[in-house]
Amino acid sequence: MSREIYPKYPPDLNEEQLQYLITNVKDWSIANGLAVRPVPTWVSKEQDPVGSLAVTAPVTLFPSLFPRNCFEQGLGIQTAYNELYAAIASNETWLKEIVEELVEVDDFIAELWKVHQAVKKEGYVQGITLGLFRSDYMVHLDPAHSAVKPTIKQVEFNTIASSFGGLSTQVSKLHNYLLSVDAYPEETQSIIKTSSLPPSTSVPSLAGGLAAGHHAYGESRSGSPLCVIFLVQHPERNVFDQRHLEYTLFNEHQVRAFRVSFNQVMSHTRLDEKRTLLYTPPHTPNKTWEVSLVYFRAGYSPDDYSGKADWDARLHIERSAAVKCPSILTHLAGSKKVQQVLATPNSPHLARFLPDKNKAAEVLKTFAPIYPLDKSEAGQEARKLAQNPETATRYVLKPQREGGGNNVYRKAIPKFLKETPESHWPAYILMEMIEPPALSNTIFRNGEVQKGGVIGELGVYGVCLWKTQSGEDGVQEMLENRQAGYLLRTKGDQSEEGGVAAGFGSVDSVCLI
Ligand code: ADP
Ligand code: MG
Ligand code: MG
Repeated sequence: MSREIYPKYPPDLNEEQLQYLITNVKDWSIANGLAVRPVPTWVSKEQDPVGSLAVTAPVTLFPSLFPRNCFEQGLGIQTAYNELYAAIASNETWLKEIVEELVEVDDFIAELWKVHQAVKKEGYVQGITLGLFRSDYMVHLDPAHSAVKPTIKQVEFNTIASSFGGLSTQVSKLHNYLLSVDAYPEETQSIIKTSSLPPSTSVPSLAGGLAAGHHAYGESRSGSPLCVIFLVQHPERNVFDQRHLEYTLFNEHQVRAFRVSFNQVMSHTRLDEKRTLLYTPPHTPNKTWEVSLVYFRAGYSPDDYSGKADWDARLHIERSAAVKCPSILTHLAGSKKVQQVLATPNSPHLARFLPDKNKAAEVLKTFAPIYPLDKSEAGQEARKLAQNPETATRYVLKPQREGGGNNVYRKAIPKFLKETPESHWPAYILMEMIEPPALSNTIFRNGEVQKGGVIGELGVYGVCLWKTQSGEDGVQEMLENRQAGYLLRTKGDQSEEGGVAAGFGSVDSVCLI
């Protein structure tokens, strides 16, 4: 089957055109915070003694072609996905069954579960949870029906530290700016035009979500002023992505936020007798703030916890009265295992959590086949597919991890399984590779221009704020449920991984066709 559905793209540029385009990308990016910190090995300590340098974020020079119906499909189902994952995160009884299987084979999941159990035992003092979600998709062509329009298939659903919402608004503005200053050659006028370049609202929408979580917390209980904590990694190269949200939260909503890393939590925060979370910044030791909301941009990877002290910090926050984005249960709801259970053919789970039949049908259309690797009947089938070098090439093997760089792809799977004790196989899920149509673009990354075949991944953000009642399963009240903008991440088609921060991809926006 032909995988060609797009017109010839991107256009060839002569030397003058390329230089004009790159000059604009370089300057606009820095002037507008479409930037990251340099990789530490790029600059010596003498060249950058206080870490003040920034470089342009990896971007595509052109917005990538993307089918309009697929884009609308992704944005259109985000609120249904928000509802689905809020319902899952609010059903401890259901999650427990899934998590308990993983606990035996996955230490990280086991630690997270322990935190939840400890807080459950003494009782949660905050019933409100904020989700800043991102549902990721690739364009999919049904190999059996080449005449059928492309649709989207979900890669994964992120419930913690969904990144690049800060930069995605900037990159869609960059591509719009390049169009308006004639950086794209005339012959592309019929393709790259304002009506094909939808802006991404992720910065105002996600900052609005943080503000909603902050306001839902209510009045100060201690008399200290309220603030938000961004729980961050240190050092963090992708700091400007986060700062865009922080500055918009401050400028548009007058909410102060502080950046705190795991190792500072126990020394700079404390809980009062009602478990109100109080923060004393080290630069103003006489001024204490009451924390309304903790927004996790760290804590999704085992590497974020250097030892018991960091797990104590996670527990300390989970115990507190602050609203969490996300709570431990919401974090766990985003595990790949949950995605696999939902995708099981004819399973009752989707209908249970998303009772509206139309919404459930739309969500179901985006599921790609995913199998367990346990000893169930489906698991045994999947084990055969994964161990056979011929069939394994159609799949990706995923552990319960976030942040990129953890998966095993295609022909590497049989060998990997041979080297992994069989008792650990249930920690993985096996997913069919989504094969998007052929597409080219030019990536500008670390000062280098790379033109060639690319694969794009659409991320749709969602803001979801809900309330549960202690000890009861189910969402008690939905306070906010919105689609919150989009992101496209584009990588060279020779790379199986797509993480921008992990060093593989670039940020991009869509050119709808
Ligand atoms: P993570 O939570 O680490 O980001 P993902 O499930 O998103 O894990 O996988 C990482 C990357 O692997 C994705 O960004 C995508 O490029 C690739 N990938 C994952 N699943 C698939 C799939 N089913 N088909 C094609 N590529 C995939
Ligand atoms: Mg993820
Ligand atoms: Mg991902």
